[in-house]
Amino acid sequence: MAIMVNQVGYEADALGKKAVVSRPGSYVLKNAAGEEAWQGETGTAVQDPLCGETLYPLDFGSVRAAGKYYLEDGQGEHSDTFEIGKDVYAGVHNAMVKALYFQRCGCALEEKYAGPYIHAACHMADSRIYGEEGQTLEARGGWHDAGDYGRYITPGAVTVGHLLYAYKMYPRAFEEKLNIPESGNGAADVLNECRYELEWMLKMQREDGGVYHKLTAWSHAPFVMPEEDKDPFYAYSVSSLAVADFCACMALASGVYHSVDQAFADRMEGAARLSWQWLEKNPEPLLFTNPEGSNTGEYGDRADADERLWAAAEMMLLAARKGENVGTYRDELRKILDTGLGVTDFGWTDVAGFAALAVLTDSEKTAGEEILGVFREAVLAEADRLVCLSTRNAFGMAMEAKDFCWGSNMVVTNRGILLALACEIPGEQAASSRARYREVIQAQTDYLLGKNITGYSFVTGFGEHAYRYPHLRTTAADGIDAPMAGWVSGGPNGRPGDELAIRMIPAGTPPMKCYLDREECYSLNEMTIYWNSSAVFVTAFLRSRKPEGGRES
Ligand SMILES: [Zn+2]
Repeated sequence: MAIMVNQVGYEADALGKKAVVSRPGSYVLKNAAGEEAWQGETGTAVQDPLCGETLYPLDFGSVRAAGKYYLEDGQGEHSDTFEIGKDVYAGVHNAMVKALYFQRCGCALEEKYAGPYIHAACHMADSRIYGEEGQTLEARGGWHDAGDYGRYITPGAVTVGHLLYAYKMYPRAFEEKLNIPESGNGAADVLNECRYELEWMLKMQREDGGVYHKLTAWSHAPFVMPEEDKDPFYAYSVSSLAVADFCACMALASGVYHSVDQAFADRMEGAARLSWQWLEKNPEPLLFTNPEGSNTGEYGDRADADERLWAAAEMMLLAARKGENVGTYRDELRKILDTGLGVTDFGWTDVAGFAALAVLTDSEKTAGEEILGVFREAVLAEADRLVCLSTRNAFGMAMEAKDFCWGSNMVVTNRGILLALACEIPGEQAASSRARYREVIQAQTDYLLGKNITGYSFVTGFGEHAYRYPHLRTTAADGIDAPMAGWVSGGPNGRPGDELAIRMIPAGTPPMKCYLDREECYSLNEMTIYWNSSAVFVTAFLRSRKPEGGRES
C-alpha cells in the first residue's frame, strides 16, 4: 500500500495537487491538528508502465489553505507530511544552489558557511599536462564534478548554462542570500557561485584558444576527504567539445556579468573570442577518449555539432550586443541546423537545447525569422510529444520506460526545461497548451520530491523520506550521519551499471523500481553538479510562474 505525494509540498494556487495511490477508494486530507480539510475519491485505475503496478490518481487541487497536511485512507494508512503554501519550493531551490558551494575545490570549507561539513583546502598542487613531459598548469578552483574529485569542462559548462539561463529568465528566484563567502557583495549568489567555476574554466584555456577537456587524477580516489587525495592531477588533451562548450559558456557569461563586474565580463569575452578562433581553425571534430588504463570520467561524445551550435548561438548574441556583424555566426547556425540536428536537449552529451534557449529568449530576435522558426517548431513539437507521454502513466510524467537511464533524474528535469522554454514561445499555441506544459513540469517536480514508487524524495534533506546515502566521497568520509542538504540523486536506472545494483535488482524489474539508497551504487545514487543545476532551473520556473503558465514580470 502506498500513498505517494510530493513530500515538500504544493503551491497553494497550483491547478493540480496530485497524489498517486495503490488502493482505490475514499481518502481524507488532514491538517497538522488532525482535522479533516478535504475528502475525495480516487480516479480511474491506470496500469502504469513505469513501475508495473495498477495505480490511482488522487487530486486535492481545491485545497488552498496554507499548512502542513497528510493524506489518509480508511484503513489507517497515511502519507508523508507535506506543505501547502506560497513559495513552497524556496527552501529546496536555495539548497540545491548552495550545494555547489560544498563542491568547491582549491579552498577550505569554513564552518560559518559549511556548518559541520568543513574540510581543509584540497587539490592545491599544480597539475601536470598529460603527454607533455615536465609541463604543469596552475588550475586550482572549480567544483568537484560529482561523487569524485575530477573537474571537467563540458559538464561544468552545462551546469553554468542551466544556472545562468535560470537566472536570466527567472531572476526573482535568486534573490535570497545563500551564506557563501561572497554573499552580500551586491551580486546574486547564484552568480557568485558560478563565478567560482568560471574562474577555474578560464585557467583551462591555452594561449591558442584550445581548452583542456578535463583535470583529473589517473584513477578515482578512494573514499577519502578531498584534502587527503594527494594523487597527481593531469590536464588531459584539448577536445573540440570542451573548446566549443567553453566558448559558448564564456560568451553567455560575459553578457550576464556585464552589469556585475565589467572587467570580469571583458576577460570572459576575450576568452570566448579566442576559443571561437580555435574552432574556426579546427573545423573537424576533435573528440576525447581516456588514455588506456585511466578510469576517471571521460565525458566522451560522438559528435561536436551540437557544441558548435551552442557556441555559434552565444557568439552571435555577443556580437549583436557589441554592434558587430553577426553574419558569420548566423551562417554557422544555419549550416548546422540544415543537417537536421535535434535542438531540444540540455545534457552534457547534447547541448543543442542551449542554442534554442539562447535564440528563443533573445528579445532582439537576432537570429532572424527563418532560424527562429526552426527552433520554435522543434521546441513546440517536442513539448507536445512530452505532453502526450504524460498521459500514458499514472504519474503524469513525460517519461517512458527507456528514459530511466543513468542519471534519469536529469531526463526528468531537462524535460522540465524544455517545457519551460516552450512557455516562452508566443503566438500560435493557446494559453491552454502553456497550462498543460506547466502541469507536466509540476508532475516532473512531484516525482523528484517523492511522488514515485520508491517512496524517496530524490533531494537530500527535503521530504520526510529523503534519500540519505549519495555516492559522494565527502559524505562517505566525513563521519557525519546526515549528508548536506540539497543534492539531487541520479535516480532509478533500468540498466544499472554498478556491482551492488546489478546483484540486488532482479532482471526485468520495472524501471522506476530500479533504485537503491546505497552509497556504493554510483549508477543509481551518485550526485553531480549538472543534475542539481537542471533541477534548479525547474524550481526557479515554478517559483516564478503564475499558475496559468505566464511568467511574472
Ligand atoms: Zn578538491
